[in-house]
Amino acid sequence: MAAPAFVTPHQSDARDHITIAGAGPAGLACAIVLARAGRRVVVHEHQNRVGARFHGDFQGLDNWTGDSNVLDELGSHGIRANFECHPVRGGIAYDAWGATYPYSSSAPIYYLVRRGKDAGTLDSGLLQQALDAGVEVRFGNRYHANDARIVSCGPRGADVIAVGYLFQTEMPDGAWICFNRELAPQGYSYLLIHAGRGTVASCIFTDFKREQHYLQKTVDFFRECVGMKMDSPRKFGGYGNYFLPKTGIRGGSLVLGESAGFQDPLAGFGIRYALRSGILAARSLLEGVDYNSLWRRDLLQLLRTGLANRFFVTLTGDRGWRWILSHRLASEDVCEAMRKLYRPTKLTQALYPIAYLLHRFSKRPSPRE
Ligand SMILES: Cc1cc2nc3c(=O)[nH]c(=O)nc-3n(C[C@H](O)[C@H](O)[C@H](O)COP(=O)(O)OP(=O)(O)OC[C@H]3O[C@@H](n4cnc5c(N)ncnc54)[C@H](O)[C@@H]3O)c2cc1C
Repeated sequence: MAAPAFVTPHQSDARDHITIAGAGPAGLACAIVLARAGRRVVVHEHQNRVGARFHGDFQGLDNWTGDSNVLDELGSHGIRANFECHPVRGGIAYDAWGATYPYSSSAPIYYLVRRGKDAGTLDSGLLQQALDAGVEVRFGNRYHANDARIVSCGPRGADVIAVGYLFQTEMPDGAWICFNRELAPQGYSYLLIHAGRGTVASCIFTDFKREQHYLQKTVDFFRECVGMKMDSPRKFGGYGNYFLPKTGIRGGSLVLGESAGFQDPLAGFGIRYALRSGILAARSLLEGVDYNSLWRRDLLQLLRTGLANRFFVTLTGDRGWRWILSHRLASEDVCEAMRKLYRPTKLTQALYPIAYLLHRFSKRPSPRE
């Protein structure tokens, strides 16, 4: 009798259940879609709760990296907005020379969501939908990524970090952003207020060692220009990772979200990319379609243009941001202008090969949290 074939965890997945390592937006979106289609899914989460790397901070779920509204897109795959989710249609931007650029849009530019373990966050909402769909989530379980059918373990390095404060405030709702390398080198500083809660942060793409310096400059700037008032401030921080993978399949595992490098290199936005890749991976398993073809069709162009855009602002600095503000964003409906910014142009196509090589071979610091 022939010896029994070696059963890899992936093969056993197919017979029994599908294992997912990581209960972030990517892993949970994938789990929800699979479970709704009748598959048994077990998610292994390293921490003892969801959203552990976040602290209740506001983040933006972008509404520009697609032609349809992001909530409709999620809804079409059965994912509901059962988390706090507020449309943002405008705000004020500043350049490094102090000029202001009020911007607005008829459609939401992004939806303000909170991240972390608490009720109302994106993370706890997705967890609830996964549990309701019958997904089993095993907390405190660090899974060896290569053993999981689906790998969605978040960033593997630090290309960008954000450091800031969460606070209570009596200020009215609003969104402010400033592009000034003195406050946030190669990145931006932001202030978001909603319903008495605030998040202020410096999002930097270089010079990580001086993060506290940039945070202080950011706080001073918003105090002076906007009259920011912070009650009970709490510090927070985190890091992100973007790269352009050759493949989304490693050792037979489908790799999603930031683990695969799926994040916008220009702004460091990754939530929609994570959710999308989770849905695509589920479709790949359910329909037997190649995962690489699916993510390349939906994400590759965005990643390439994002990398070229990042190279452009790295080369041109504050002047580049000012050009984007005055020529691309402030002049028209911002959501539409942002959509255009992520469509390839002759310039981004010319910049992309150099941007790719430079990013691929640049030495990046290790993450620290
Ligand atoms: C401060 C900050 C602000 C940001 N702001 C925005 C924003 O405004 N808009 C936006 O779109 N994006 C933003 N991002 C990026 C966005 O949060 C991420 O891109 C997104 O959360 C990625 O989702 P994910 O599922 O890939 O990974 P994660 O959210 O990191 O989830 C991965 C999960 O896997 C778990 N895990 C790790 N290793 C293992 C293991 N071996 N076994 C089991 N589990 C494991 C982790 O504990 C974690 O729960 C921000 C990021 C930071 C840090």
